[in-house]
Amino acid sequence: MFIFLNQKQKKIKKMKRQKFVQKKEEKKEQEEPRNILCHVVVGCIFLLSFVAIIVAITYPYPHTDYYRDAKLLKGDTLGRINCTIGERYDSYLDICAPLPQSFLPELVDDTVGACESFFKHMSGNWIKSHKNENRAFTYVYRKNQKYIHDIIRDPTSGYVYTFYRSCLDTIVHHQHVMIDNSQVRHVKEHILGALKTHGDLPIIFARLAAYGFTSPFLFTIEPHPTELKMIPLIRRDYMFNITAENSYELNECLKKLSNWIVEDENFEGTYIEYLQTRFKRDLLNMGTLLDGSPPNFWKMYLRELNGYNMEEDIDISTQPVWITDKQYLQLLLHRLSEISVKEWKAYVEHSIDFHTQQHIPDLPEDSYFRIHNPVNGRFRHRSYAFQGDKNDHACMDLTQKLLPGTIGNIFLNKHMKNYEIIKKQVKEVVENVRDAFADMIHNTSWLSANTKEKVADKLQNIIVRVVHPNFYEEEAIVTRITIDSYLRNINIIRRYLATRNFELWTKGEPNRDLIQRFGSPITTVNAFYSPVTNTITIFAGILTEPFYSSTFKDVELYATIGMISAHEIGHALDNVGRLFDKDGSFMIKDSWTMREIEEFEKRKKSLMEEYEAPFGCINAKYGEQTIGEDLSDLNGLTAALWAYKKRGGKDFASFFKIFTQLWSETYDLDIYCDRVSNDEHAISMFRVDKTLRQMKEFKDTFHCSKKDLMVNPNRIVMYGE
Ligand SMILES: [Zn+2]
Repeated sequence: MFIFLNQKQKKIKKMKRQKFVQKKEEKKEQEEPRNILCHVVVGCIFLLSFVAIIVAITYPYPHTDYYRDAKLLKGDTLGRINCTIGERYDSYLDICAPLPQSFLPELVDDTVGACESFFKHMSGNWIKSHKNENRAFTYVYRKNQKYIHDIIRDPTSGYVYTFYRSCLDTIVHHQHVMIDNSQVRHVKEHILGALKTHGDLPIIFARLAAYGFTSPFLFTIEPHPTELKMIPLIRRDYMFNITAENSYELNECLKKLSNWIVEDENFEGTYIEYLQTRFKRDLLNMGTLLDGSPPNFWKMYLRELNGYNMEEDIDISTQPVWITDKQYLQLLLHRLSEISVKEWKAYVEHSIDFHTQQHIPDLPEDSYFRIHNPVNGRFRHRSYAFQGDKNDHACMDLTQKLLPGTIGNIFLNKHMKNYEIIKKQVKEVVENVRDAFADMIHNTSWLSANTKEKVADKLQNIIVRVVHPNFYEEEAIVTRITIDSYLRNINIIRRYLATRNFELWTKGEPNRDLIQRFGSPITTVNAFYSPVTNTITIFAGILTEPFYSSTFKDVELYATIGMISAHEIGHALDNVGRLFDKDGSFMIKDSWTMREIEEFEKRKKSLMEEYEAPFGCINAKYGEQTIGEDLSDLNGLTAALWAYKKRGGKDFASFFKIFTQLWSETYDLDIYCDRVSNDEHAISMFRVDKTLRQMKEFKDTFHCSKKDLMVNPNRIVMYGE
């Protein structure tokens, strides 16, 4: 993953509302009507004007400056449009935007030498005139958000607009019943109606899962971490807090469930060892669970979830499954009847109420997988509902999360009409960068011929997806969305997501590209490499200035989007990525020789030591925290430069300058330190300076000496020499 986005940008909750300003039209004196027809015409005009004025005044959807995350010092609504150097006033966004040129000499601060801090030298003048901003990302993020929000608000956006209006009219304007009791009753009858005995529980749990509601365990389909296939992931679900109606039965049920939770002990050892242990421990066959489960529990569960399409003869016991809370699940399934049917009913009813009465559900960022892939070690399950402002922005946010496919297509047709051309050009850049990476590997002295061959094969196998994933699609159920049934709409979309997820397991041949069909919306200002599928995705959202322009020359292309792609490819060979093979399978046994591993670790350690927490912030393990990204920064920039050289490029100075200015950012110390504590990416100054310190092309181009800060006398090389 590529970039930190200012937390504030993500948490735009409280928004100022601009009053809808009604333009007063001057009314022209009317001439005395000469006949009846004139009377009628004038009367009609008056009536229409009157209606127009009333509609304008009472227009219920005020325009909010939602895309603004912090007050800008320059060029804001207060009329201060004196943008700083290197900026132009963007009247559409009402902010100062970076000029589209890839390099701006006016940002250069000559009081800091190029060999002292290239970051400060290249961007000093920009840094001095800004506050809490990242020059490129903040701007493009705002622009995309504005585009998306305009799409959602536009009545010509079809079902996207219908869904948004259903939310707005219900939640904000109370034009429709807030809690659609008939819908809740319908859901309760469907789920709860079937619960008579403990034997019915698998059906009940499956129905909860199909709606995306909380149940005692979570069942999703995820890529198999060590093979090319999809498998179920079963884990303990998030335990929501009881906020009201503390019924005795519900409390009893939750108490018993929580008794079965076994906390993970802290793991001592490296991250790789942790992964290896996890894979050995948690990657199991369904048979392991079947032993303690009531007879036919899983068969009933799966049949219910799959709408009875499950093959009768499927041998569940041999199916691989990823179980992350084995002891909890075994206790739960073994002791289902210790919780009475009455107590289970209270639990299920509470879950339904919880998910149907919270008007704005808080859905995962990627709106699809409820859990991010476990391989990344980042379990994020957020099925709890959002209880914040029920306003225009909340509905906007929800629409964006629930219908990313449909919105993405409108975005492309409106704002990236030439996306086929862009796709072709950027794909070529990515492939050239990948080939340069392969050259680097070929020239790496400390890797054996055998390893080189495997790595080259892996690089060649990377699936490149530009603009959008290849299996990109609109949400098929949009036509069922209606303007007056908000809750029903939500349930339709949730069930659709659950079904699509299940299909990944039961339908079709495994396909790395298909597996990665979902993910972040294409408007994301980012690029991703996925080690479990060996795919790289450069989203439409980042393919705009200053990151990319179809008019960019070679040096510009390779210092911007080429560098970003190379960084992502770098993740295929960082400390974690190198352990996955060409199909995205984790190699529990490291395929590298002992000598290679030792050499890699030695070099990695030197790079880690480069990254001490920046001045003013405390984090003794900063190097360890950021090493995956630091490795990708170094390998990525090197590969991008190799690709540029391979095309005959010689203007290294421009290459380094363009790359550096793309990273211009400045934040207050508290924000910086917060990032230093949590972000796996180093701060921009380090991403530039610490990387360039290792590159001999940089030293030679700017004639730096060994004594200069921008030169590491013990240059660190990972691949390429
Ligand atoms: Zn990264």
